[in-house]
Amino acid sequence: MKPLFNDRNELVEIRVGDVPFATGGGDLWTAVFAASNDLSHRIEVRAGDAAAFERDGTPGSKTSLRREAPLRPRSGHLCGKAALNGGGAPATTVLRWRDIPLGDERGVLDASVEIETLSDGSQRWRLAFDNRSATWGLFETSFPRLNRVTRDGEGDAMLPGGDHGARLYRSRRAQDKPLVVEYPAFTPMASAFFIGETGLYVAAEDPDARIKSFRIEGEQCVSFSTPVEGAGRPGLAAEGPRHSVTLAPLSGDWWDAARRYRAFALKQKWAARGPIRECPDYPRRFCEIPLWINIHAYPEEAERIRRRVKAVFPDFPTGIHWHLWQHSGHDVNYPEYFPEQKGTAEVMAAAKADNQEMLPYANGRLWSVSTSGYEMARPFAVKRADGSRMEETYAPTTPPLAVMCPCCEPWQRVIRRFTGRILDELGAGSLFLDQIGAAPGVPCFDPSHNHPVGGGGWWYDGYDRLLDPIHRKANARGAFLTTEGAAEFCLGMVDGYMQLTMRTPQDIPFANAVYSGYTTFFCSPENIDDETPAFRAMQARELLWGNELGWFLPEVLDRPDKCDVLRRLCVFRQENLDALAYGTLLDELRFAEPVPEQTYKWLGRRQNFMLFTDAWALTPSNSITLPDVIGYWWRTDKGETVLLAANLADEERTVRYLPCGASLRPEASPHLTLTLAPHELRRVVAQT
Ligand SMILES: [Zn+2]
Repeated sequence: MKPLFNDRNELVEIRVGDVPFATGGGDLWTAVFAASNDLSHRIEVRAGDAAAFERDGTPGSKTSLRREAPLRPRSGHLCGKAALNGGGAPATTVLRWRDIPLGDERGVLDASVEIETLSDGSQRWRLAFDNRSATWGLFETSFPRLNRVTRDGEGDAMLPGGDHGARLYRSRRAQDKPLVVEYPAFTPMASAFFIGETGLYVAAEDPDARIKSFRIEGEQCVSFSTPVEGAGRPGLAAEGPRHSVTLAPLSGDWWDAARRYRAFALKQKWAARGPIRECPDYPRRFCEIPLWINIHAYPEEAERIRRRVKAVFPDFPTGIHWHLWQHSGHDVNYPEYFPEQKGTAEVMAAAKADNQEMLPYANGRLWSVSTSGYEMARPFAVKRADGSRMEETYAPTTPPLAVMCPCCEPWQRVIRRFTGRILDELGAGSLFLDQIGAAPGVPCFDPSHNHPVGGGGWWYDGYDRLLDPIHRKANARGAFLTTEGAAEFCLGMVDGYMQLTMRTPQDIPFANAVYSGYTTFFCSPENIDDETPAFRAMQARELLWGNELGWFLPEVLDRPDKCDVLRRLCVFRQENLDALAYGTLLDELRFAEPVPEQTYKWLGRRQNFMLFTDAWALTPSNSITLPDVIGYWWRTDKGETVLLAANLADEERTVRYLPCGASLRPEASPHLTLTLAPHELRRVVAQT
């Protein structure tokens, strides 16, 4: 992998083998500085504003390309490779920008980008500033800016998004709107771009999980934005984003990117608990619940639904996500949940006796501003740079809710108190803490809070401190904690993730490939009015990806065809827990010759599905084309490699396929044959 720069330190291209990526040129970084006496007064600085540009390699290395400043701008002229790999020692190259003005101050800023090439051919790119201004403090950086990573329609792009951590866009073209994905939240900050089977991996591999965002706009123009610690405070502000961005060559497809990200992710502090199988306090009954129902019901109705769920699905454990156990409605009077509705504890106990799990809803992030308690809580809400508190409104019928700062100890105590009561007084065996994983970390500018103002890794640290005692308390009694999304920063704070956004044809099981065996993902949301073949295809795929199914409304119990599909899939999951609950997702089934395909329609669901009215429009319907046979390779917790496959067709299907791991050399691999009856699910143990 070889990036090329011109003598203004503009990126000309990144060549992977013979394939050029990032050919759009332009500034490698931009930065926003804020006036220390008024954070709303900001200026943007671009790399091209420098008076001089320099570059040098590791002292003594053959890559040294030092230039004396100033150079005459000669945009587009190649002056050399910034780093080399292969056949020599790993190299480090430094690009420098000198004497950059900030406002009226001349020459008070220098910048440098260090590109470290590692022995595996990957590179870590880092940006840092030397700021000598007493007026302007670094506020936010945008780096690296990789313009036109692939040309319009030229390549496939794996981008962060969706419940499964990433989506794959074939032959991606410029979109009308930029895609901005914030972190720490739903998804990892990993992307990959492929032209044929040659790929470029671009990921913020940040061990401190700092607040940042991924952005793609125009012709695959990619950048990472990072609000810095001490934003806008000269002398106190971090002089750069403090996290590197990793670029690496890839060969194959997005699975290669997932394997690379997994190798990073499982070494980080959020994964320190280790795999479920080796974790003595992980509540395993959670990862062995194959099906979830979602209810908004007071205890009497909840008990009726629970009994029906048991009657329809008597042969395996079921989970029921329970809204309205508390005295007020949904999104009202948070965090004042108590007193609970009369009969709540009795429903929970009855469920437990029936091998069911009532998962009570609570919110781990918001405080209703209409409560009298908010007068006390107001100082602990997240504060924006302009001094205003961050408040959100979720529905026309509910009052605004304030976003609470996770580093504030009074708020931490409040959460510990109400979660403790849910576990102690109600006897709950689990708890859903909404939004912690789903809503992104945001800069907070209240200097009285227990964190540096602006961005940083404190959002992670605050939630870690907040949740650790709750999590320990829950696990000590076999209870489990859950939140939403595939938010990796929560991996050690909760036991699993609900994934409720509607699926799209671009979804790929990235989070499952990265974190399988280390956590539990549940939900496979779908409109129960879908045609049964479409329902079967979607649910089978989610199951083979490792998700526990469901989060259906109780109306699904009135659809025998849908219940039959779910029952068969859930039984198959229970028979394959060594893979689907405890194992590692390795790869997809790759065919040696074409397999018949079918196109299915997924209807989408009501956009505000919490309000139970048909007045809301459906989310967009999607068409998806799948092969009649789908399958995924898993390594079980005992080290066995197995293929878990499903025939989606109404007829028998015979397919010829490649062994696991043969995708890189398909021509040299034997072809295997599998025949499946209509709708059959099969486990095939790989021959070693
Ligand atoms: Zn704060």
